[in-house]
Amino acid sequence: MSAPTPSLADSLRTAGFKGELRPHELLAPCTTWQIGGPAELLAVPANVDDLVVALAWTASGSISWRLLGNGSNLLIHDRGVRGLVLRVRKVLDEIKVHGRRLTAGAGASFPAVARTAAARGLAGLQFAAGIPGTVGGAVVMNAGWHQFETGNAIAAVDFLQSNGHRITMDHDQCKFTYRSSLFRRTPGVVLGATFQLEPGEPADIQAEVDEYTTARKLNQPVDRPSCGSVYLQPPGDFAGRLIDAAGLKGRRVGAMEVSRLHANFFINTGGATCADALALMDQVEQEVARQFGVELVREVEFWQ
Ligand SMILES: Cc1cc2nc3c(=O)[nH]c(=O)nc-3n(C[C@H](O)[C@H](O)[C@H](O)COP(=O)(O)OP(=O)(O)OC[C@H]3O[C@@H](n4cnc5c(N)ncnc54)[C@H](O)[C@@H]3O)c2cc1C
Repeated sequence: MSAPTPSLADSLRTAGFKGELRPHELLAPCTTWQIGGPAELLAVPANVDDLVVALAWTASGSISWRLLGNGSNLLIHDRGVRGLVLRVRKVLDEIKVHGRRLTAGAGASFPAVARTAAARGLAGLQFAAGIPGTVGGAVVMNAGWHQFETGNAIAAVDFLQSNGHRITMDHDQCKFTYRSSLFRRTPGVVLGATFQLEPGEPADIQAEVDEYTTARKLNQPVDRPSCGSVYLQPPGDFAGRLIDAAGLKGRRVGAMEVSRLHANFFINTGGATCADALALMDQVEQEVARQFGVELVREVEFWQ
């Protein structure tokens, strides 16, 4: 009789992975939308070596893998995802300041980085205080607010290629564009980033952080489960303005609702499913296309 096939968790442990392994872990609590079925295997690396081990293991076993930060720009299918989900959040999260440069690990909270920069009298990341992602997610997505973008403050990114090579990429190599970067198209793991900042008065910088935070609270449903903006801004316009003008504020499918405060935010009012979110997105996209001839493009990434 042949030996039973080892579980994914056993197999990854045998390969040398030291961090946490959680088979069939529900992903809904790992996302800000609070939606999503289980990962076949969720793994939280203890260090960079664990990531190297995990990537080599996926390659040798042809196992699909994904990188999860704070799950604040993700819609995950109700039936979950196959393969390995590596969660880099609250690990690899050191923040260090050297002169005008701030270096942060991929798992550091982006708002925590903004607060540290402000406290140390470094300007350039005030906008980040209201973006509830990790540094890794912010770099990959080139997260931004109004005219500010993560990429503008980046001096270098520490990147683990899928073949296990660790490289440092300078700003230009990262190819930042609106809500995107080279890392969205290149398999690998952002391990951390170095930001080049400008000196300023800590109190003035903090005042700007507070001003932006207040503006967000007035205009966005920041205390309700969402993924932030569902759609990218169409050229020369705003997705929220179009959805509002189409009369869709408050439109609901199941427990998912177009926010009445900001129409580009969809709120999980309690127990919404991925199917609810997809159906609401379909309705909104069709209605905006019908009324204004504009095709909305999704900013939120869909895992299935
Ligand atoms: C209330 C609210 C407000 C928001 N406001 C804004 C805003 O003002 N501006 C804005 O741009 N976004 C905003 N967002 C969206 C979201 O916070 C950002 O896109 C954020 O940068 C995502 O980071 P994350 O760690 O949650 O990434 P996740 O959602 O976990 O992942 C996003 C993508 O990045 C990849 N990824 C994550 N970490 C790594 C890594 N270390 N290495 C390689 N790939 C990685 C994932 O695989 C995925 O492809 C908002 C969201 C919410 C809920």
